[in-house]
Amino acid sequence: MFLEELTAIIDRSRIKERELLKGHTTFHIGGPADYFLDVVNTEELTALLSLCGKEGIAWRVIGNGSNLLVSDAGVRGAVIRLGGEFGDIRISKGESEGTVTAGAGVRLAKLARETASAGLAGLEFAGGIPGTLGGALVMNAGAYGGEMKDYVKSVVMLKPDGTLCRLTAEEMEFGYRTSVLQKNGAIALGAEFVLPCGVPEESLAKIEELNARRREKQPLEYPSAGSTFKRPEGYFAGKLIMDAGLRGYAVGGAAVSEKHCGFVINKENASAAEVCALMERVRQIVYEKAGVLLEPEVRLWGEF
Ligand SMILES: Cc1cc2nc3c(=O)[nH]c(=O)nc-3n(C[C@H](O)[C@H](O)[C@H](O)COP(=O)(O)OP(=O)(O)OC[C@H]3O[C@@H](n4cnc5c(N)ncnc54)[C@H](O)[C@@H]3O)c2cc1C
Repeated sequence: MFLEELTAIIDRSRIKERELLKGHTTFHIGGPADYFLDVVNTEELTALLSLCGKEGIAWRVIGNGSNLLVSDAGVRGAVIRLGGEFGDIRISKGESEGTVTAGAGVRLAKLARETASAGLAGLEFAGGIPGTLGGALVMNAGAYGGEMKDYVKSVVMLKPDGTLCRLTAEEMEFGYRTSVLQKNGAIALGAEFVLPCGVPEESLAKIEELNARRREKQPLEYPSAGSTFKRPEGYFAGKLIMDAGLRGYAVGGAAVSEKHCGFVINKENASAAEVCALMERVRQIVYEKAGVLLEPEVRLWGEF
């Protein structure tokens, strides 16, 4: 019944059943989603939410899966990915600044490169973050001194009840790795940025330099979800973990990276349960040794 009505909204070729989410997460971990749906515009998305509401089907949105640990049993209901018009970037440049409108499905690396090439500065920090704009708005993603909140002017979103709205940067309640999207359950559709004019060669060189720093410091040769824990105030999670003697500490195929202790890596076919158990052990031991309770930055999907 659901599937029948679904095909009236989304082309059958963009509907997958029992799709393994390990193929859609940078951890390369995660069981099946009952439905994995690629939507291409707001009309489809609105109709889909309405159908899910009517049929009692749970739904969630995935970006590039770069901040997710999905359980081995996967998730029930629908996982929605934003493609089509959500992948558009529009840039208009003035004398001293420019306006950029980008869809939530746009990869940050592309957004950083395209704005830099157009002579707009500011988003270089995002060039090496392997997520989409949607995920970055949810997380207020940041690196090397920059954060989404520094440049976002407004965000267009679809509320779970199907209403569209545009929130200003202030209304987004951006904080350290958080935004209002973590509270209101809305789907970010896109954002508008105001960026100062820059020099393309300089911005592109900065992106390259930051990416080189990442390659040197981060275990990019292994699947992971980036920094596993948030930075506790006054500390660095990686240093606390290293000082607790946990460099290389492993549970099954999951391990604390030897290169950067802030990263839990999927060293050898780790299961979600192993990553989760490792995270729990790390939290316990760091708490015992340093009295600091680490909070996961990675978001958990499904049952653990
Ligand atoms: C190697 C590596 C390096 C990283 N470095 C950094 C870094 O320097 N700084 C940093 O901040 N992060 C970093 N990350 C983490 C991650 O890339 C960011 O959190 C990113 O913003 C997540 O985006 P995503 O599209 O992958 O989101 P996903 O992981 O797919 O989703 C994350 C959350 O956002 C929700 N979501 C996604 N899209 C939408 C949408 N359109 N509307 C509503 N909700 C949505 C999902 O439901 C989920 O709850 C790194 C990760 C890796 C693997």
